[in-house]
Amino acid sequence: MDFRIALIKGDGIGPEIVDSATKVLDKIGEKFNHKFNYVDLIAGGVAIDKYGHPLPEETVKECLKSDSVILGAVGGPKWDNLPGELRPERALLGVRKALNLYSNLRPAKLYKALQQYCPLRTASSFDILIVRELTGGIYFGERGRRNTENGVEAYDTESYSVMEIERIGRVAFEAARKRNRKLTSIDKANVLESSRLWRETMHKLKEEYKDVEYSDMLVDNAAMQLIRDPSQFDVIVTSNMFGDILSDEASQLTGSIGMLPSASLGEGTLGLYEPIHGSAPDIAGTKKANPIATILSASMMLRYSFNLIEEADAIDNAVEKALDIGYTTSDIGGNLNTDEVTQKIIELI
Ligand code: NAD
Repeated sequence: MDFRIALIKGDGIGPEIVDSATKVLDKIGEKFNHKFNYVDLIAGGVAIDKYGHPLPEETVKECLKSDSVILGAVGGPKWDNLPGELRPERALLGVRKALNLYSNLRPAKLYKALQQYCPLRTASSFDILIVRELTGGIYFGERGRRNTENGVEAYDTESYSVMEIERIGRVAFEAARKRNRKLTSIDKANVLESSRLWRETMHKLKEEYKDVEYSDMLVDNAAMQLIRDPSQFDVIVTSNMFGDILSDEASQLTGSIGMLPSASLGEGTLGLYEPIHGSAPDIAGTKKANPIATILSASMMLRYSFNLIEEADAIDNAVEKALDIGYTTSDIGGNLNTDEVTQKIIELI
């Protein structure tokens, strides 16, 4: 099959790690008989330098015409003093909004070879996928300040519609079907009305997914359970704010920022795939960047946007083997550079 993939390489290590991902995709194309056609687009600091704006319209248009988008990272000290609207990171929010990406998938996996980097002394390997609602909830609700008899008061509103809960729920149940068929929905239904609607809606939905083992968990308990025994989770689905916090907690349990991919999805198959780390300006140009987070983001694209499961598995297995053998960059104890790790993964595929 033929696919059109928009590449937003961005700043810092962005171009280096996106190049690694496309080389791996080309190997997959060769092995499984697919053609990946790339369209290079600019956003972030490089776009500010060229056009005076972090997200040119052309970039959004071309993304919308593509089958999927891979993004490296944006930002760096050169643009740190610009006003909010013009900062490179605005490009991220702009793309997510323009593509209507309402779900954020963040795996947190502890590989056997990397157990020494996990801050939990007792952890064995675990493999969690957090599905976070991305365009609703308290981050987008009504907010403001008002005068009261006790002085100024500030408020933020958490609200979710059945439609919003149902569509993120479906993403999570479908993802669970592609994994170990276990889903935990995390809320605060003992206190929040929005969580009670969340739970009710999830319970209706679970009737359609009887092949998935479903459970509810309160968010405070979930924060504890992630530390106590992360291996109990397969897929987690939760609201925007709870997902923001729990996905950062889970990512730290894996011990390395250079390993973690992410996907943001909307309706249909168009998605945005990116590593969770930033542009790492401190190591840009030194070939020290760990390319695995971006390579695994490309694997998520194959799995979730193109439904190419065998191809995605081929990448994931090659990455795991590379880690087992010790073909790694220095952030996880190895002595290979970005290109050498990429090449080893390609050979293992
Ligand atoms: P960062 O993630 O870029 O770097 C934090 C630390 O992790 C650095 O020491 C860096 O060298 C290391 N690191 C990150 N990725 C690595 C990799 N693949 N391999 C090896 N080491 C890696 O976070 P930061 O330093 O806070 O931010 C740098 C810039 O990136 C800022 O301008 C920030 O706004 C931006 N940023 C962008 C994104 C994004 O594009 N999605 C996300 C976070 C930060």
